[in-house]
Amino acid sequence: MPDPNGFLRYPRRLPARRPVPVRIRDWKEVYPAATDELIREQATRCMDCGIPFCHEGCPLGNRIPDWNDLVRTDAWAFASEALHATNNFPEFTGRLCPAPCEAACVLGIGSDPVAIKQVEVEISNRAFARGYVRPRPAPERSGRSVAVVGSGPAGLAAAQQLARAGHAVTVYERDDAIGGLMRYGIPDFKLEKQHIDRRLDQLAAEGVVFRTSVNVGVDVTGEQLRADHDAVLLACGALAGRDAPETPGRSLRGVHLAMAHLVAANRAVSGRAAGPPAIDAAGRHVVIIGGGDTAADCLGVAHRQGAAGIHQLDLYPEPPQARDGARDPWPTWPWVLRTYPAHEEGGDRLFAVAVREFVDDGTGRVRAVRVAEVGVEKVAGRRVVTVAPGTERELPADLVLLAIGFEGTEDQPLLAQLGVVRNRAGAVDAAPDWRAADGVFVAGDMHRGASLIVWAIAEGRAAAAAIHSYLGGVGSLPTPLDPSARPLTATC
Ligand SMILES: Cc1cc2nc3c(=O)[nH]c(=O)nc-3n(C[C@H](O)[C@H](O)[C@H](O)COP(=O)(O)OP(=O)(O)OC[C@H]3O[C@@H](n4cnc5c(N)ncnc54)[C@H](O)[C@@H]3O)c2cc1C
Ligand code: SF4
Repeated sequence: MPDPNGFLRYPRRLPARRPVPVRIRDWKEVYPAATDELIREQATRCMDCGIPFCHEGCPLGNRIPDWNDLVRTDAWAFASEALHATNNFPEFTGRLCPAPCEAACVLGIGSDPVAIKQVEVEISNRAFARGYVRPRPAPERSGRSVAVVGSGPAGLAAAQQLARAGHAVTVYERDDAIGGLMRYGIPDFKLEKQHIDRRLDQLAAEGVVFRTSVNVGVDVTGEQLRADHDAVLLACGALAGRDAPETPGRSLRGVHLAMAHLVAANRAVSGRAAGPPAIDAAGRHVVIIGGGDTAADCLGVAHRQGAAGIHQLDLYPEPPQARDGARDPWPTWPWVLRTYPAHEEGGDRLFAVAVREFVDDGTGRVRAVRVAEVGVEKVAGRRVVTVAPGTERELPADLVLLAIGFEGTEDQPLLAQLGVVRNRAGAVDAAPDWRAADGVFVAGDMHRGASLIVWAIAEGRAAAAAIHSYLGGVGSLPTPLDPSARPLTATC
């Protein structure tokens, strides 16, 4: 029985972010840890609804009211158990998820939703600190083996589920470190990498073998992998960056895809790169094109690198501050202004503007970006952009970062070797049993297109359940999804 007055007694409260002048001088996470008291208060706001819509919002089907009540009653070990029952990696989602569960929380109809994500991350922090996270190796080996290609959250969730079911799992990763986009895409101020490393220790102790710097399809063929293992799971992500080749001046020096900037910066922070990052915002006038997670991450990195000035451009008009109930009724994912901590740190955010040209300084290097105000409409399902006459102007720019999305999974030799094709959106389709070809399964961004960590974990768990059954494993593994499942609308 929850506290019936909890939400009346306590307002929604989060721990204060570290002060801007302090945090932009380092790469540490923006949010400090919260006290037990604060988190208990926040968990006490949960009404334990008869129909908990937060479940509907969460792709993992996290048992949110259960762990809220366990936190309220100070039963942290049980809360950790309930949380890990549906989510392999709450330390990642608790830090990084946009929390569709909170958008669907019943309390959000007339008040602020429960701070579900904060409760989640605090359970996971205490679970590691207090030793509740321990290896859970399989009691018996199945004698079957699985290759997982790609070590992002989808590959890792599947690897853990399969290893715990007794299968011999090898994860192949072409980068020099495990973690997928969480390792070199997402900066440390959102996710410090020790959180990945300590989880990997658990997976290794459960028997998962990691092979880094192996580009499957090149260093080892798909056919070889198929011959060496009883099943293959492809979890290669959706890393084909969208470019703007038609924009005049795109080939100028100083104009880059956002991921080139982020990867270089994250490698430098990790100490794995020799010298400073190849693309550095220090002292530069930076223009970031795009309005999502990737753009906000470039913004935070540029602040920390010491940019002279930053503009972030969004093609779309500024969204409202609060849910427009007529357009996005509760409990759907609302179109609202998403302000990330990086925005609080500085920079100018411009909405409803489009880039007309990257301007040459006369030496083949960018010196400015010419922009114009625009309107965007959907006509017969297609996006139509109209330029407002007389609104063109230049923004100073000696570093331009294109954070305008991804075009699906990369076209790479591995696909043909395994008889797998990309669809028109650049993703790889799966049958209802998660199979993309004979003995070959697919999950995560590679299957659904650029999405979210929570979806990658959910798909990894679901594909693992399908592989377990394909291998004739004993019993069945839990699965939150079928492959045609789509988000309520939350994507990054
Ligand atoms: C900058 C940025 C910030 C983001 N921020 C957030 C956020 O805050 N919250 C959130 O929920 N989501 C965020 N996302 C999205 C999230 O990171 C992805 O949805 C998620 O990582 C997808 O997981 P995945 O396992 O499918 O693939 P990925 O994490 O992309 O991992 C795929 C891995 O496969 C490897 N690989 C590919 N081909 C091969 C091969 N042939 N051989 C061996 N290895 C191979 C790649 O090197 C990569 O490591 C962000 C994305 C970006 C780009
Ligand atoms: S919808 Fe909100 S208030 Fe209701 S059970 Fe879920 S978290 Fe608690």
